[in-house]
Amino acid sequence: MTRKILVTSALPYANGAIHLGHLVEYIQTDIWVRFQKMSGNECWYVCADDTHGTPVMLRAEKDGLAPEELIGRVHGEHLRDFSGFHVAFDNFYSTHSVETRECVEEIYARLDAAGAIEKRDVEQYYDPVKRMFLPDRFIKGECPKCGTKDQYGDNCESCGAAYTPNELKNPYSAVSGAKPELRTSEHYFFKLGACSDFLKEWTLSAPKEGQGNPDAEGGVEKRRLQVEAANKMREWLDSLEDWDISRDAPYFGFEIPGAPGKYFYVWLDAPIGYMGSFKNLCARVGIDFDDYWGPDSEAELYHFIGKDILYFHALFWPAVLDRARFRTPSGICAHGFLTIDGAKMSKSRGTFITAESYLDLGLDPEWLRYYYAAKLNGTMGDIDLNLEDFVARVNSDLIGKYVNIASRCAGFIDKKFGGRLTRTDAGWLNEFRAAAPRIAAAYEQREFGRALRDVMALSDVANVFVNDRKPWELSKRSGNEAELHAVCSEAIEAFRLLTLYLKPVLPKLAEAVESFLEVAPLTWGDAGVPLPEGHAVGVYAHLMKRVDPARVAALVEANRESLAPAEATARAGEKISIDDFMKVDLRVARIVDAAHVEGAEKLIRLVLDIGETKPRQVFAGIKSAYDPAQLVGRMTAMVANLAPRKMKFGVSEGMVLAAASGKGETPGIFLLSPDGGARPGMRIR
Ligand SMILES: [Zn+2]
Repeated sequence: MTRKILVTSALPYANGAIHLGHLVEYIQTDIWVRFQKMSGNECWYVCADDTHGTPVMLRAEKDGLAPEELIGRVHGEHLRDFSGFHVAFDNFYSTHSVETRECVEEIYARLDAAGAIEKRDVEQYYDPVKRMFLPDRFIKGECPKCGTKDQYGDNCESCGAAYTPNELKNPYSAVSGAKPELRTSEHYFFKLGACSDFLKEWTLSAPKEGQGNPDAEGGVEKRRLQVEAANKMREWLDSLEDWDISRDAPYFGFEIPGAPGKYFYVWLDAPIGYMGSFKNLCARVGIDFDDYWGPDSEAELYHFIGKDILYFHALFWPAVLDRARFRTPSGICAHGFLTIDGAKMSKSRGTFITAESYLDLGLDPEWLRYYYAAKLNGTMGDIDLNLEDFVARVNSDLIGKYVNIASRCAGFIDKKFGGRLTRTDAGWLNEFRAAAPRIAAAYEQREFGRALRDVMALSDVANVFVNDRKPWELSKRSGNEAELHAVCSEAIEAFRLLTLYLKPVLPKLAEAVESFLEVAPLTWGDAGVPLPEGHAVGVYAHLMKRVDPARVAALVEANRESLAPAEATARAGEKISIDDFMKVDLRVARIVDAAHVEGAEKLIRLVLDIGETKPRQVFAGIKSAYDPAQLVGRMTAMVANLAPRKMKFGVSEGMVLAAASGKGETPGIFLLSPDGGARPGMRIR
């Protein structure tokens, strides 16, 4: 039976860059969706930028842009990053859209008609200079518990206390610095308290008949929420309060119909953005919207989210949908946070790694997809990206085990047998085919780690087979052609099956294998159909590079935020300690090559030998003073531990030292040189 499935990932907020923490969710969702599509299900994956609210409004103002311009630019950046990691949305849209507005207005009208909306006066901090009400995060003051200054209006970063903005001592507006005043304003509330019975039932029950996975494995009752999530919900359900869904102007969002100056709160329209994005897709490709969202829908609906927004997706969202007579989600798939090397991502440690920098430094996105998948198990537990383990695991599993099978056998098929396979239905491969439903079940349950362990165990079996039969020895003696042909053909068939099982995680690699094998895009059903005798394969080309630990180190360097500007720029005349000076790794360098850089006005590309195995590339702004030819062979000095910098023309791996004229002096640039006898790599101190 073909299932109809609609899948969403949480909407990224439109004022910041995508980082590796975000990608845990998008990669995870994408793997699940790709698996569903490979299994022949009708599965749609939609997402959008979350564009509304005070932070976007203020950020746009600060950048001198209209909010629409800011969100347009960020949308392009987000889509570029997602595509770079092969996250294949069927639609990546914006909540600031006609469709989302229509859905928000319809839902609001239905809630209002059902008596689920109420107006109430609210006392809130107001910035008299900026003339706006302040969200909690924009009020700062002294912590009421420990007295630490400059704490946010909701909790103290020093002692961890939680409180309301009204409890802060000496509060001030983080926008203007003014002392805020308490003012009264009329707000719109969604009567969530009245949904308590519905939510208690909803939280603990399985999806409605027809709206859940009919093939749920192992006789386990399929619930809408993971066990940990359901437990969390029980706490919340004991103290449900009505939900404030309006904000006063100025606000970037949708105005509430019939209420000038009142806007829908961003968290009301964000999940409705899933609907808006899907509605846009429906019009584009001809899907019936109500088939998926109507109260009698027989489709499945899953939201993949981080555990921090469970509250919004498991409480507010189903209650709003139910009261507005739409279907509710079949399941909420919550996941934990990403830590890097066992700690929270940190800008000063360089572990707050952007998606863009990862791709710019030439790291393969499928390495990260594989590593994340290997760690994911369908629970809300955090996952750790241990950078050393990342290098080791990818190199050992993907290169050492999986790719190795093809690289040791493919050449013989090409050179000795005209690219044609012999029979591939040997008995030892039955185990590989029999694994298909088991691996499928692991993907279905989002236990990707389990699926990959299974695949790697099979890779081991294939490698033992190749090691035992030694095609490289068979090929040396005549009379063994039939055996060599059989061994290599069977190994290629094993490799095809492993590729199929890895395809949700490694879609680009699988594409390359499909083209090498000259087969149609692999689907789950292909597991049972061996490659036929006589099937011709193409010429094997190497499929994946090993992870170079130096690249990973460069990635961390590139993301390391330099010390605060005040500490980092020692002005002329300012004193620094000897320790500060010793942090700079200065080396004698020999210029082994120098060339003009096409399209660069000021730069010369230098290749520098500092006694390392590989010379460094440095782009130096010295073109106005030097001819590349006269530089080759001379010695200079360089900073060797500067974070590599990605430039338009390539990565610059250091800096050469030169004296340069100041303002008002005769222009000139003078490269430093050591006295005769200094050797490349010598430390300068
Ligand atoms: Zn405190």
